[in-house]
Order: sequence, then C-alpha cells, then structure tokens
Amino acid sequence: MSQTPVIRALRARAVNVPIRRPLATATGAVTHGPLVLVDLDTDAGITGVGYVVTQGGYAVKPLALLIEGLGEFVQGDPLAPFAVEQKLRRRMTLVGVQGLAMLALAAIDTACWDAAAKAAGLPLARLLGGVPRSIPAYNSNGLGIMGPERAAAQAVELLEHGFKAIKVRLGYPTVAQDLAAVRAVRGAVGDAVALMSDYNQALLPPEAESRARALDGEGLAWIEEPVRFDDYAGCARVAAAVATPIQIGENCWDVHDMRKAVDAGASDYFMPDLGKIGGVSGWLRAAALAAPVGLPLSTHLYPEVSAHLMCVTPTAHWLEHMDWADGILAEPLEIRDGHALVPERPGNGMRWNEAAVAKYLA
Ligand SMILES: [Mg+2]
Repeated sequence: MSQTPVIRALRARAVNVPIRRPLATATGAVTHGPLVLVDLDTDAGITGVGYVVTQGGYAVKPLALLIEGLGEFVQGDPLAPFAVEQKLRRRMTLVGVQGLAMLALAAIDTACWDAAAKAAGLPLARLLGGVPRSIPAYNSNGLGIMGPERAAAQAVELLEHGFKAIKVRLGYPTVAQDLAAVRAVRGAVGDAVALMSDYNQALLPPEAESRARALDGEGLAWIEEPVRFDDYAGCARVAAAVATPIQIGENCWDVHDMRKAVDAGASDYFMPDLGKIGGVSGWLRAAALAAPVGLPLSTHLYPEVSAHLMCVTPTAHWLEHMDWADGILAEPLEIRDGHALVPERPGNGMRWNEAAVAKYLA
C-alpha cells in the first residue's frame, strides 16, 4: 500500500484571458475570462491544478489571496479531497460558504481531486469510478445579444468541430426582437441543430411567462434563467406555463440552493456550475440529488473538469463548451463531431501553458 501524499503548498494566480468570441448577455458584456489558477504541490512531486471563473476582472486578485489564505489551513494535511473540503468548510462556516469564499473552496477542491487522480495514475473520471467517454456538447461561445443578422452569421461559424447544438442569448428590449433573433439563427442552421436559449435572469415572472409562451412554438431545446436565479417559485410558474423545458442552476450556491430549486419544481433541467456548486465534491452531491428525481444535469463553464464529471453523473445531459480557458491551457479540451473527448491522461487533463499564463497575469 503506497503512502498518501502530503499537501506542501498552494499557489493561486490571477489572469485575465482574452476571449475569442466576446459575449454580450442581458447582464453585460464579457471580453476576458477572469480566472484564478490554482497549483497544489505535494511531497510526492505531484501538482494538482484547477481554475475558477470570477465573472469580473475586479475579483481575480482578491480571490487569489483568499485561496492562498485558505490553503494555509491544509498545508501538511494528507491529500484526501473529502477531508480537505470538510475541514475548509468548517473553517468557513462563519464567513458563509458562498460567493468568492465558495469559489475559493471549489478551486482548492478541484486541484485536490486532480492531484489525487494523478497520484493514482488515473484520469479523474476513472478515479471516480467512471469510464472516459465522449460527451454531447453544445457550442456556447459567442451568439450574444447582437441582432438577428450577426447572430445568424455567427451561428453558422459555431457549427465548427461538428457541433450540432448552440445557444442564443435573449432578453432584447422586446419579445418581437427575441423572436427575430431565434428565427434568424434557426433559419441559418436548420432544424437538425439543437438550439438552446438563455435570458440570463433578465425578466420578471409575468413578462417571462408571456415571452416563454411566445417562444413555445420555436422548438427550442430549453429556455435558460428566465427570471432571477433564486426566484424558484417564479421560475416554477414559467415552467408550468410552457412546453419548452426551463433550465436553471448556474447561479445556485452549493447543493443547499439546488435542493430548494428542486423542492420548488423550479425547472425541468438543471445546470450546476463547478465553482458555485463546490468543485468536484459539490458536483458529486448535485449528481446524487438529481438522480432520484430524474433531473437532467448539464454543465456550466469549466468544460475540462465537467466532462470527467459527466462520466459519473447518472442523469448527464449536455456539456456546455466554453473556450475561456483555452488561451492558458497547453492541451485544450478536444471536441470532435460535437462531442467533448474526455482525455485518458492522469488527472483532470489540464496543464498550464506557462508562457500564456505569464502574458495574461492580472
Ligand atoms: Mg446561462
């Protein structure tokens, strides 16, 4: 029996990585991926890595400090992801395990699981008991609020790498403009392409219900976040009013929020965010919560690690492909025929492109 490695040090670096296709949503424009990269060193010479997305350049440096501060609590501890996660949660009880604190926990947890998988010589999916496979993915890059003509042109570009599913952002000033964008994209890509849509929490429930009804005949794969993310009753009202499935989850903190959403019947589908749900450990609990109620789970951001987790998610649905980390990865996640290929190399498959990291340091 080999010895469990011991955690030696934890480093966090803030980067702002330019995005290939800037994205305008109902909540604002995204031009850079504000990421914090974590490196967790062990005494076995193994380094685990992970990143989290802050959704704002202003937050990357504070989050990096937070991660390194929390990391001091686990220096000298055995490389045991569950034990590390539980210890940090206890330490954070009075701060609150959400917001930047939760992202910090998720980043450390993700790096811990990567190191554990590398120590075992297994890809993360195999360490967790799954088999790496190809995961159906939709191309979520681009296709922001850009008007029907530009949206139609970009939709065709997004079918690169054999993608057969894409997502259009909605929340234009009027429902007529929403419909025009959906129809322009549909006209450009044809009926065989699955078309997701996303309001990014832009509407109040009565308006959400009427817009969702107007969209109900458009054959959308789902309508995402029509209302404020934690208005579960309002979202349930929209879900009950239309046939098109309602998707939420990316802004829920931890499985405790997710449980409230599930109990309220807030949506037909759910999409935990690896960071906000609590890293790999949090995702496993989300998958366990979704299974008994048959709730299809899709991923949000973080395609590299999320692809492994879909291999051990009983109700796995769609992987969201976002390329925000591609600019700092030595081997970005490979997409073929519209599927993400879960790599067989040990760990979560991520390795930093150090020259790029140095270039984009915040
Ligand atoms: Mg969304």
